[in-house]
Amino acid sequence: MQIYSQKDVKKKALSGARIAILGYGSQGRAHALNLKDSGYDVVVGLRKNGDSWKKAKKDGLSVAEPAAAVKGAKLIAFLVPDLAQKDLYKQVVDNVALGATILFAHGFNIQYKLIKPRKDLDVVLIAPKGPGHLVRRQYEQGRGVPCLIAVSQDATKSAFDNALAYADGIGGTRGGVIKTTFAEETETDLFGEQSVLCGGTTELVCKGFEVLTEAGYQPEVAYYEVMHELKLIVDLLHEGGLAKMHQYVSETCKYGDLTRGPRIVTPAVKREMKKVLKEVQNGKFARQWIAENKRGQKKYKALMKKDLAHPIEKVGAKLRARMPWLEA
Ligand code: NAD
Ligand code: MG
Repeated sequence: MQIYSQKDVKKKALSGARIAILGYGSQGRAHALNLKDSGYDVVVGLRKNGDSWKKAKKDGLSVAEPAAAVKGAKLIAFLVPDLAQKDLYKQVVDNVALGATILFAHGFNIQYKLIKPRKDLDVVLIAPKGPGHLVRRQYEQGRGVPCLIAVSQDATKSAFDNALAYADGIGGTRGGVIKTTFAEETETDLFGEQSVLCGGTTELVCKGFEVLTEAGYQPEVAYYEVMHELKLIVDLLHEGGLAKMHQYVSETCKYGDLTRGPRIVTPAVKREMKKVLKEVQNGKFARQWIAENKRGQKKYKALMKKDLAHPIEKVGAKLRARMPWLEA
């Protein structure tokens, strides 16, 4: 493994450069503000007079429409939703300077060949391993969310140095920047969010809630047990791995964990995880998601509606309203 920090950043890379940030959502806002505070000439590219336009202006950034924003930029970061990036690329590419760098925060469009970049461009990835609001907050606190770095096209022979300078500008070198490839980032990221982080965890929580309430326990008690307390456990794992969690839970809990956990996440679950990974690797998931978008996201919207109608959401909203400090 190769990991880079502030001392590895080349002084000359990106110095004085204009950087265009396309999109002002979770990552876009954080990157734009951090880079500006790091001394870069930042312009945000947005659709005229959308909500983000006003927000970026209010945050003190210069704003232009995407095709204008990329003019004269040394680096252009594509921070709109993954499935909007291809159209946006087509919209701006004629205004992108010869030998400029295009940057992604997730490898989807390059890995699955939705975007086939011009041959004179450098194509790089800086993927923060955390959501945008943390990328901003940690930067302001003098810390930094760790990032992954990758290069898929190195036309100028300075692609890596420019990418590392960008990671430094958003605070990533403080946490460490790990070298990867577009394939490794894309595949591990999709697998992780599907099997463990979002898909796996929420299924586990909801099924646990169902088992308790179907057995006649109060939904409020079930909610605290399987959703609210999850954060306390995850924080321990985040800070110190399995060892720290074991240090803070009771002996009885540990015994139950070690004997019952493997009965819940069985070898069959692991076999299914491997299938999910295969679908990521062979492009089946990507094709399905692209087709779903072409059809206007009908199935996706229906599934989302069903997810949000789960009884745990009702009881959760009621209980969280009593703890307004949670939202901050
Ligand atoms: P987002 O959904 O939070 O923000 C999208 C932004 O793009 C908004 O400003 C929106 O107004 C604009 N936008 C939406 N649709 C558009 C369109 N059709 N054309 C032009 N602009 C449009 O996006 P995000 O979650 O920050 O994701 C941006 C990139 O960062 C993605 O590649 C994503 O995979 C990656 N990423 C996200 C996270 C995260 O925590 N959210 C973490 C790592 C990497
Ligand atoms: Mg789910």
